[in-house]
Amino acid sequence: MEVFKLRLKKVVSLSNCPVCGKDVLRVIAPGRYARAYFDCGSVFATPDCQEIVAEIACPNPTAVAAKALNDEVSAELAKLKTGVAV
Ligand SMILES: [Zn+2]
Repeated sequence: MEVFKLRLKKVVSLSNCPVCGKDVLRVIAPGRYARAYFDCGSVFATPDCQEIVAEIACPNPTAVAAKALNDEVSAELAKLKTGVAV
């Protein structure tokens, strides 16, 4: 499969913002480009089949870091509940 088709497929398959996880609102893919709009305001696209770009940056870039911290806390809590030393 040609690389541009893989890029189109990737953008069309996005159901959440790759940065903060907010839901996709709309995806358009009329042919040689695809564009995905997300609830946070970000827009990811493959303009004329070129590499995927963030046409509008996600305004919540720290959300990923906060989620990672919360995941770590959840993992530590699970270990405490099972009696494994943290
Ligand atoms: Zn976002």
